[in-house]
Amino acid sequence: MYEMHVGISVSGTGQVWHVVAHGQRATLCGQPLGRDGDTQTDHHCLDCMTAFQRLMQTVEPV
Ligand SMILES: [Zn+2]
Repeated sequence: MYEMHVGISVSGTGQVWHVVAHGQRATLCGQPLGRDGDTQTDHHCLDCMTAFQRLMQTVEPV
């Protein structure tokens, strides 16, 4: 289970959508979570998207 959260980009220059595993306090790219609800962005975190794709590809059927 994964969720999207807005946070500071890896480069620190703006806000982006990060991917966060359910129950975790850090994003897939390692950025700390910001507060929800006070930010808006159209950008996505490339590191999180890459990590998320890798996770999806490595999931094996049970
Ligand atoms: Zn990220």
